[in-house]
Amino acid sequence: MKPICQTQVPMHRLLNGSACGQLARSLIAVLAWAQIFAVINGPLAARDVPVSLQLRILATTDIHSNLMDYDYYRDQPDIGVGLVRTASLIKSARAQQPNNILLDAGDLLQGAPLADMAQHRWMTDGGYGIGAIHPDYLAMNRLNYDAATIGNHEFNYGLPYLEATLKGARFPYVSANLVRLDRGRPRNWISPAIILKRRFRDILGRPHLLQIGIIGATPPQIMTWDKDKLTGKIDARDITVSVRENVGRLKSEGADIIIVLAHTGIGPTQTRPMEENVGYQLTKIRGVDAVVLGHSHQVFPSDSYVSVPDADLEQGTINGKPVVMAGYFGSHLGVIDLVLKRIGKRFGVVASHAEARSITKIADGKRVAIVDADPALSKIIEPSHKATIAYAKTPIARTDSRIHTYLALLGDNHAVGLVHDILRSYASQKLRGTNLEGIPLLIAASAFKAGGRYGVTNYTDIGPGPIQVRNVIDLYLYPNTFSIVKVTGAELREWLEMTTRVFEQVDVSKSDPQPLIDLRVPAYNLDVIDGITYTIDVTQPVRYDRNGKIIRSDAHRIRDVLHDGHPVGDDEVFLVGTNNYRAEGGDNFPGLDGSHTVFSWPETIQDIISRDMQAKGDVHARPHQIWQFAPLDAGVHVTFDIPSHETAIASADPRLEKDVELANGMTRYRVNLSRNPPEKPLPDRPAQDR
Ligand code: MN
Ligand code: MG
Repeated sequence: MKPICQTQVPMHRLLNGSACGQLARSLIAVLAWAQIFAVINGPLAARDVPVSLQLRILATTDIHSNLMDYDYYRDQPDIGVGLVRTASLIKSARAQQPNNILLDAGDLLQGAPLADMAQHRWMTDGGYGIGAIHPDYLAMNRLNYDAATIGNHEFNYGLPYLEATLKGARFPYVSANLVRLDRGRPRNWISPAIILKRRFRDILGRPHLLQIGIIGATPPQIMTWDKDKLTGKIDARDITVSVRENVGRLKSEGADIIIVLAHTGIGPTQTRPMEENVGYQLTKIRGVDAVVLGHSHQVFPSDSYVSVPDADLEQGTINGKPVVMAGYFGSHLGVIDLVLKRIGKRFGVVASHAEARSITKIADGKRVAIVDADPALSKIIEPSHKATIAYAKTPIARTDSRIHTYLALLGDNHAVGLVHDILRSYASQKLRGTNLEGIPLLIAASAFKAGGRYGVTNYTDIGPGPIQVRNVIDLYLYPNTFSIVKVTGAELREWLEMTTRVFEQVDVSKSDPQPLIDLRVPAYNLDVIDGITYTIDVTQPVRYDRNGKIIRSDAHRIRDVLHDGHPVGDDEVFLVGTNNYRAEGGDNFPGLDGSHTVFSWPETIQDIISRDMQAKGDVHARPHQIWQFAPLDAGVHVTFDIPSHETAIASADPRLEKDVELANGMTRYRVNLSRNPPEKPLPDRPAQDR
C-alpha cells in the first residue's frame, strides 16, 4: 500500500493522533476488516469487503503565468517560483498515490512578463509567440490537469483574448457564479460545475468508477475591477449562493463527492452578500467534501491562519472539511488526501488530510530549493521562455540615473514621480479642448513593488542605462488602463486618509523600536497624489478599515493639504488621473465606486509609459515634493526593512541607522522621523552592467 501521508510516520505515532492519524486509523480499520474476512471466508470473498478507496486531490493556484523558475525583471533564475518546479512535486505526489486528480484555482493568464509577451504577440499576429496555444496551456496540458476555474486576473486583457486563449486548454473550466451575456441574454459559456468520471482502484486493487463533482467560482469583484471590459457582457453572482445551487444538482446527477474549486481566499466568518473571500463559508455548505482555494496568495494550512475559528491546521480542515490554498507563482502544491468508503451505492468521505507542499525551505537563514525543475516540462516551455527574455529585453529608452522603490514608502520617490510626469502629460493632452480643461488636474500613482510580504525581490529597480520592456512592467506591474475621476476637496482628503493604511500607528509613549509599515496592506495602496502637498501623521490611528468603512470617525492622519499653496477647501473640485482599478472601486477607497469617473481610455498605462519613453529617448526620473511625515519626537524609533544588498542606498539616507540583519535577506533600519525631509539627495548606483 502506498503511504497516504507525505511523511513516513511510525505506526504508534499514527495511532496517537499525529497529522495523518485519523486518516490512517480508518484505513487500518478497513484493512483489518478485510484480513478478518479473508481468514474466515477465504480470499474469494474479498468482493464482500466494504469498499474503501483513497483519492488524492492536487492543486495549484495563482500561477500568473510563472511557468519557468525565472525572474524576467532581473533577468536571472529564481528558485522560489515556476510551475516547472511545482511539476516535480506533482510528479512525486502522483507516484505516492495513483488515484489522483490535478486542479487549478485560477489567476493563470496574467501577472508575469511571459503573459505580457503572449498577449503582445496575440495582438500583433494572433499567436502567442510560439504557436496557436498559450504557453500556460502547453504546460498544463502536458501535466494533464483535470479541471480549472477562472480567476479575476483572467479578465485583465479583455474578453476576446480570454475566450480565444481558453480554447487551448485540454481540460474543462468551471465557474458557477459567472454568466456570459449576449445582448443582455445569458448564453452558454463556462460550465458552472462538472462531474469527472474516473476509474480508480480501491485498497484491495479492485477497480471502481468514481464520480467527482467539481464546482468552480470566481470573485464577483471582477465586475468592479474590470468594469470597462465586462459591463453588459458578464454577470457575476454571489459565490456561496451559486455553489449551494449546484451541490444538489451534482448529487442528483450521480456525484459521489463534491469539491469546490474557488478563486477565493479565507475572509471574515460572518456572511455578507457578494463577499470576495468566502473560503470559510464554503466549508459550511452541506454536501461539500473538499475545498480548493486561491486568490489571496497565502498558504493553507499554515500558521497565517491560526486565528481562523474551527480551523485544524494539523489536519488541514475548517469546520471538519479539508481545505487547501497553494500560495502563488507555483510556490506550493496543495495536497488533499481523502479516504472514501462506499455507503449504499455511493462513495462518501470518511477521513481527510490536507497540506501545502513548498518548492523551497529556509535552511541556515537562506531560502533553498527542495525540488529541481522538471526537465521535460522546462523543455516544452523553453521556446516561450526564450521569446519572453527577448521581449523583456526590447530596448525602449535610456536613463542616466537608477530608478528604484527601496525607499518609496518613506517619502517622495523618483519612480513614482516618473509615472506622475508621464500620466500628467498624457492626461493634459487628452483633456485639451474638453469642457473639463480648466479644472485643476491631479495625478495619483504608487509604487507597486515596495517589499512587504513578497520579500527582497519585490522592488522596482531600473538602470542606470538602457530601459527595456521588462523595466516598464517592473515600474507599472498591472495592465490597468487610465481613468480620470472628478472629486471634491473633501473627497480628496478621504482618499488620502485611505492611503495611509500602509502605515502602522506609532505609539509615542514607547521608546522601543516599532514597525512603521503594516505588511498586511499592499504597498500600492499608498496612492501619492501629485499636484497637491500634504503631511501624514502616523501617530494618529487609521480612519478606515480595508472595506473602506470609517472605524474611527475622530481619526485624521492627513494634515495640511495644500493646492497652489492654499489649503484645499471641502467644495473645491479636482480631476484626478488614476487607474481603472482604483477609479472603479479597487481596494474599496472611499467615494471611488466608478460613479466619479469622467474619462477612461482603453490603452494600458504600461503602453502609455512605453510610448512616452520611446518618444523622449532619455528618461529623467525625479521625486516631486508631495508628502512628508509629521515629525516624531526624537525619542520615538520606528523601523523599516531594506534588502541587505542595498546598504549603499540606506547609508546615504541620513534618516536611516542600521539596526539588525534579518534571516529573510532584509536589514532592519531605525528611521529617524524627527526631521524631514532627508537633507542629502539620494545617490545613484554607480554604473554597472545589468
Ligand atoms: Mn492572484
Ligand atoms: Mg486573484
